[in-house]
Amino acid sequence: MVNRAIGLMDLSPGLEEKIRVCNATYTVRFGVRLRGQIHTFTGYRSVHSEHMEPVKGGIRFSMGVSQDEVEALAALMTYKCALVEAPFGGSKGGLCIDPRAWDEHELEQITRRFAYELIKRDLINPSQNVPAPDMGTGEREMAWIADQYKRMHTTDINGNACVTGKPINAGGIAGRVEATGRGVQYALRAFFRDQEGLKKAGISGNLDGKRVIVQGLGNVGYHAAKFLRDEDGSIITGIIERDGALFNPAGLDVEEIRTWIAEHGGLAGYADSNFVKDGAVLLEEDCDILIPAALEGVINLQNADRIKAPLIIEAANGPVTAGADEILRNKGVVMIPDMYANAGGVTVSYFEWVKNLSHIRFGRMGRRQEESRHELIVNELERLSSDKGFNWELSPDFKQKYLRGAGELELVRSGLDDTMRIAYDSMANVWHGRDDVHDLRTAAYLVSIGKVAASYQAKGL
Ligand code: GLU
Repeated sequence: MVNRAIGLMDLSPGLEEKIRVCNATYTVRFGVRLRGQIHTFTGYRSVHSEHMEPVKGGIRFSMGVSQDEVEALAALMTYKCALVEAPFGGSKGGLCIDPRAWDEHELEQITRRFAYELIKRDLINPSQNVPAPDMGTGEREMAWIADQYKRMHTTDINGNACVTGKPINAGGIAGRVEATGRGVQYALRAFFRDQEGLKKAGISGNLDGKRVIVQGLGNVGYHAAKFLRDEDGSIITGIIERDGALFNPAGLDVEEIRTWIAEHGGLAGYADSNFVKDGAVLLEEDCDILIPAALEGVINLQNADRIKAPLIIEAANGPVTAGADEILRNKGVVMIPDMYANAGGVTVSYFEWVKNLSHIRFGRMGRRQEESRHELIVNELERLSSDKGFNWELSPDFKQKYLRGAGELELVRSGLDDTMRIAYDSMANVWHGRDDVHDLRTAAYLVSIGKVAASYQAKGL
């Protein structure tokens, strides 16, 4: 897919190769004494491009982790950051582990040991390499990593910025947990504002009433489905999970199902009449929007032909294989590519990193000032109207909304929305504006590779 985009660009062959390859991958193998014996774990941190530093990208805990996978995902981070203008190069880490097989205390020991290996090589460092959550990791692991870094760099005042996705009371930022799902929602809203894009997908109207099937009700899928349902009026007709899927054309209750999964470990038993054991078949069900939000490669040569959704938004990294991408493009399916669709996570990570470096919460200085200026206007309007004998009263609801200054969460959402809109327009301009570009993914690559290339060229490389 990268090559297809590069083929449409005018880059020197040397620069092409420089951008394509992964700069470095570090493999660590370490032992941890657990349950009376030493267990050896294998982990990676791969750096794809250092055209900007620090490099950025999550750390995943999964049995599927391999060097190839981590390198591919690191490359995707480079393109993702470039597209949404987060000032980072691309990196990714992974630990080959089944996190469900260990209890919390054991996981803490393993995570801290992995972090130690990376920190002592500056592969975790606020100015050089800043990890974040990914599949199988979350706030808890990030808090352990940050603490480990601070134990090893006791005088680094910027220690908190060594990792993002931390809990709010360990240096995190409001809105980071929901960020990737929120970004998927903003990406869809941006798409639904693009009349030419909608025409290409053969869709009309807005998100209200659109039938959505989501694969994976983890952090990303859950938030995306919840926001689309509760705030945009979409109908979640299908949810695919590890042990099967639920299907109901009248719509599913995302919140209730999430709670069910947390309590029962899977979907089975939730509403038997709607339960399908072979969950993957639901990817092929008729719907308006398909959201793969779990593993990579789930839409592949085996099922691409049978996909009925006219619009796929890649909330996961790499859910559509290159072969399937070609089949779907030829069928006229519009795919909102991962590097854009799930960039909400890294975008808010960027805000968190800035917050950590500036040592102040967003909104702390300006919020009350904003409120008092709004109050001045409201009071003045009411005074004027009573002077003239009109006695207009602004509605309490309007007043309450207008008077309230933005706190950190509002600012984070606003920054994310702005980022997603600008990035969408940059892709769409290429998609609609060039005769030789027929899909959003190629457009996204053209924009992001163009930015990476410009950065190398500016440095004289
Ligand atoms: N793991 C997420 C991703 O794949 C977030 C990365 C980050 O926040 O640095 O984009």
